[in-house]
Amino acid sequence: MTNIILLGPPGAGKGTQARRLVEERGMVQLSTGDMLREARTSGTEMGKKVAEVMDRGDLVTDEIVIGLIEERLAGNHGSGFIFDGFPRTLAQADALGALLGRTGRQLDAVIEMRVDDEALVDRITGRFTCGQCGEVYHDKTQPTAKEGVCDVCGSTDLRRRADDNEESLRQRLMEYYKKTSPLIGYYYALGDLFTVDGLAPIEDVAAAIDGVLKQAEAGRG
Ligand code: ADP
Ligand code: AMP
Repeated sequence: MTNIILLGPPGAGKGTQARRLVEERGMVQLSTGDMLREARTSGTEMGKKVAEVMDRGDLVTDEIVIGLIEERLAGNHGSGFIFDGFPRTLAQADALGALLGRTGRQLDAVIEMRVDDEALVDRITGRFTCGQCGEVYHDKTQPTAKEGVCDVCGSTDLRRRADDNEESLRQRLMEYYKKTSPLIGYYYALGDLFTVDGLAPIEDVAAAIDGVLKQAEAGRG
C-alpha cells in the first residue's frame, strides 16, 4: 500500500496525474472536489449547502470534507490512496494523519506540483472533462481527437465546471495561498515532502511522480 497526497493550486495537474496512477498502478483516487460535485448533482442536502461556496471559490468546511474522506477510507483501497485536493487546511492535514493512524496506515509521500500562477489561468479557463468517464481535457494542450467526443469512452457529454472562470479562480488561488500552501512547510517538517515541476509536459510530470513513488517505497523498505 502506498498512500500519497498530490498538493498544488487549482490547475496544477493533480487530477490528470491521479487518473494515470489509478490506471497504471491500481491506486484509488480520493478527490474531495469530485465528491462534492457528485453531492451537488445528486441534490443531497450537503450538495445544496456547498454549491454556492464552491462556485464562489471558497473552501467548504473542514467538517464536511473530513467526513467524506473518513467514509472513503473504510472502502476499497486498491494499491493505495491518492489524496487529490485534500487536505487543504492544517486542520484537515491533522485529521488525515489521525485517520490514517487509526486505521493502521501511513502516508508515504506528499508530492507538491509546483507551477506558476500565470500558467494556471490558461489551464483552468481551457479545461473541460468527460461527464461519463472523467477524462480531463484542455482546449489547446489536450483537445479531444474528434471535436465534442471523448477519446476514452466515446461520450458526447463534455462539461466545463461552473467555477472554472477567472473570477472564481482568483478566489480559489487566494484560498490556496492563505490556507493550503502552509501545508508545504508542514509536510516538509514531517519529512514527507517531494516537489515536482508541474509546468513540464504531462508525460514528464508522470515520470517525476513515478520516481518519487519508487524513492518513497524504497525508503519504507
Ligand atoms: P487540478 O486537478 O490540479 O485542478 P487538472 O489535472 O484538472 O488540475 O489540470 C488542469 C488543466 O491543465 C486541464 O485542462 C489539463 O488538461 C491541463 N494540464 C494538466 N497537466 C498539464 C501539463 N503538465 N501541461 C499542460 N497542461 C496540463
Ligand atoms: P477541486 O475540484 O479540488 O478544484 O475543488 C473544487 C472546490 O471544491 C474547491 O474550490 C472548494 O470549494 C471545494 N473543495 C474541494 N476539496 C476541498 C477541501 N479539501 N476542503 C475544502 N473545500 C474543498
